[in-house]
Amino acid sequence: MSLHKSIQEIMTPEQVIELLKKGNERFVNDDMRNVKTHHLLEATKEEQYPLAAILACMDSRVPVERVFDKTIGELFSFRSPGNVVNKDIIGGMEYAAKVTGTKLFVAMGHTGCGAVNAAIKGTKLGNLTQSLDKIKPAIEKTSGFDPKSVKNIKYVNAVIYNNTLHSIETIRKESAILREMEEKGEIKIVAAMYDIATGKVTFH
Ligand SMILES: [Zn+2]
Repeated sequence: MSLHKSIQEIMTPEQVIELLKKGNERFVNDDMRNVKTHHLLEATKEEQYPLAAILACMDSRVPVERVFDKTIGELFSFRSPGNVVNKDIIGGMEYAAKVTGTKLFVAMGHTGCGAVNAAIKGTKLGNLTQSLDKIKPAIEKTSGFDPKSVKNIKYVNAVIYNNTLHSIETIRKESAILREMEEKGEIKIVAAMYDIATGKVTFH
């Protein structure tokens, strides 16, 4: 992935997805780039032109840059419990799209998500409760499973996926800027799932 504006400008959102897939392949194959820090610090100290913005869960097993074999200046990274969206995150994405020219926006859920499990169980915990409330629409939307409990991994994974779709829908609904840019084909907003056992990211 390049740090240069000229490259960012000519890449389509679809090409950015391909770059992320290749980076993830290197991560999965334990064949990551050997990136030195100093020249990157030098190259990015004045400006940044990241190609993608990733919204992921705060989970320690989802190290966003590593998962895509990316480094300084290459990705915007937004994180929250259960990759739920709030106004600060959407504002940051609008900055990424309008000011720095970022083309691709990914909401990435992951298997074994503790936040989604806690939301299914109806956990209440301080300020976390309002974050978990944002996962409820995905729980309500997930049907056709028996039992609907955290013991049913297929059910939990379906809720995790629906929650990721819900994050995308929320971004589109609450950001006129991003919605219009997507309608014009200038950016793409997509869902992805990260498997914490294999390291593999699947784009949807
Ligand atoms: Zn999680």
